[in-house]
Amino acid sequence: MLANSNAYLKEKNLIGGEWVDADSGETLSVNNPATGETIGTVPRSGKAETARAIDAAAQAFATFRKTTALERSKMLRRLHDAIMDNQEALAQLLTQEQGKSLFEARGEVGMSAGYVLWFAEEARRSYGDLVPSPWADRRIMVTRQPVGVIAAITPWNFPSSMLARKIGPAIAAGCTSVVKPASQTPYSGIAWGLLAEEAGIPPGVINVVTGSASEIGGEITRNAKVKKVTFTGSTAVGKQLLKQCAGTVKKVSMELGGNAPFIVFDDADIDRAVEGAIAAKYRNSGQTCVCTNRFYVQSKIYNKFVDKLAAAAGELKVGNGLEEGVQQGPLIDMKAVETVEAMIADATKKGGKIVAGGKRHELGGSFFEPTVIANAKPRMKFTKEEIFGPISPVYKFKTEEEAIDLANNTEYGLAAYFYTRDLGRAFRVSEALEYGLVGVNEGVITTVEAPFGGFKESGLGREGGHQGIEDYLETKYVCVGGLGM
Ligand code: NAP
Repeated sequence: MLANSNAYLKEKNLIGGEWVDADSGETLSVNNPATGETIGTVPRSGKAETARAIDAAAQAFATFRKTTALERSKMLRRLHDAIMDNQEALAQLLTQEQGKSLFEARGEVGMSAGYVLWFAEEARRSYGDLVPSPWADRRIMVTRQPVGVIAAITPWNFPSSMLARKIGPAIAAGCTSVVKPASQTPYSGIAWGLLAEEAGIPPGVINVVTGSASEIGGEITRNAKVKKVTFTGSTAVGKQLLKQCAGTVKKVSMELGGNAPFIVFDDADIDRAVEGAIAAKYRNSGQTCVCTNRFYVQSKIYNKFVDKLAAAAGELKVGNGLEEGVQQGPLIDMKAVETVEAMIADATKKGGKIVAGGKRHELGGSFFEPTVIANAKPRMKFTKEEIFGPISPVYKFKTEEEAIDLANNTEYGLAAYFYTRDLGRAFRVSEALEYGLVGVNEGVITTVEAPFGGFKESGLGREGGHQGIEDYLETKYVCVGGLGM
């Protein structure tokens, strides 16, 4: 299917139920990273459009906050159905603007629907408390209510599901939203506006603006009507937004960068570890916040693991994500290719040995070979920096203690993985790892039912799980006195 025949390719912003252009009429082009072709344009909105979107969300909140949990739950169920009824069209659009394989794009859209369904269920369970009172004539009630207008800023690597984790709990809690998708993948974000209309969600409950990140982000963080900012993206931008939010003391949720370790102990099932490694590394061409950044392999099995990982990486089918059987699409842009190349050059200069891939793919453009680098050392760049590309550096370690120290030696703390068949070690290591998500003998662990989020500089707050609605709710204590008892 051609992008321009896709029902979900909408080249407008949604503000207060109206589909609009930027005030200036200016646009941004959106390219398909697999072909370099322009798919279309979206409005280059800025401060004024964002302020109007916030006003629309504030106006909608006045009535939306009074809807019942059951009504909102039903809206979310309809939203879930609208997504699943159109999974294929949404996946095609996602692959065209982002590059990931259609298989992964279908999975991401399914995951979006999964989050929405989960929060349809959670909407009805945001219980309060009746607390035993120290006074005979007073009662203590603790209730939950929506925080109000929230603003969501999301990255290009999961343009659909990162919004699902924010829009889902926002609606469940009774909040209204202003959403700013990434400029390289705006259509999957704008599609949430179309889907909301299909699901009968009232105008103004979801508003979508595309365009200048600094202008939109500036207005969102400055405007006192916005009560909460939820951001998924790089740690650098997250820190900047945190500072900007301080001025109006907004609530914040931050899903930031990662530097995931993947530890393989001598006693592991090596084939299972290799299978997990491929999924944890090369999914989305290595461009996920939970992708393995550092493989630590115990000395006895080091060579065997490296050989098997190199062989498996060499078998991955690289190509346009729309083609059948493709497992790894292009990187998002040429800048990403240059970053990956610089990391490989740095590693080889410092003694790293390329045992698979290592260069641009013969398909050209931003396609890159799945790469494995043996003999990785702490002084190499990727030990500290997020790779965000298909490189597997493999380090050697001797003891369990050493592996834990190496794994924790980073300012990040999002995801970690390790493989062992020793039950005691499984508990020891999982408790010692300073990470928000830990996979034991599993390389892909994200699911709507579990909380997702990081320790340290990987973020604040959790998305998904029963925890995922917390940040969208205020807690209110009401003391009812004068009961004359
Ligand atoms: P990014 O550069 O931080 O951009 C993320 C979003 O922030 C985009 O919408 C971007 O807009 C916007 N933005 C950039 N500068 C801004 C500013 N000054 N004010 C307001 N908004 C601004 O990150 P990315 O490169 O798209 O995404 C990759 C990063 O996201 C990685 O570090 C990855 O680990 C992280 N990530 C984390 C999670 C998680 O759950 N922890 C999940 C996925 C990704 P434009 O597109 O218009 O520039």
